[in-house]
Amino acid sequence: MKFLKKLKKMHKSNKLYLAKYLPVEGEIKEGMKYILTKSLGLGAYKEGYIGTAAIDFTKEAQEDQGGKILKLFLCSRDIQVGDKVFEILADKSIGEEFEWTEEIHKHNHQFIEDGDVFKVIGEISPEATWVKEGDEFAEDEVDIYDVSHLPMSVCHIKCPTCKYFH
Ligand SMILES: [Zn+2]
Repeated sequence: MKFLKKLKKMHKSNKLYLAKYLPVEGEIKEGMKYILTKSLGLGAYKEGYIGTAAIDFTKEAQEDQGGKILKLFLCSRDIQVGDKVFEILADKSIGEEFEWTEEIHKHNHQFIEDGDVFKVIGEISPEATWVKEGDEFAEDEVDIYDVSHLPMSVCHIKCPTCKYFH
């Protein structure tokens, strides 16, 4: 864990939930958003490149460049001692997951207030097509389902058009 000094304070938000792209394993197929985790030679895309897979994106290209699928996850700023959390680093990238302990809380609770740590609640439903990275939601705008055969909850979001959860 390395809490880096921030250059500028990010805006504070009262909303508990936010949408974030996180990398997951799996084969990248046409139309999927992805991130590269390896840099190749000159002129090639660099580590950290984010793109949308074209029809000619191959399994070989994915392997060579360490491509991972980016999926939208519902994340929460409500951090309790014992939660597994991620921190947002000064360069806006996401650090390694770690446990938010009593000791960390004592000295670093400001990071919760500043919105620089978050925990992952679950995947945002693919039917919530309007949701973008960075969108924020209040508690009454999300509906979280625990599905027994899935490792994570599925999160439905209140539709701004019809007001139902998709
Ligand atoms: Zn709708």
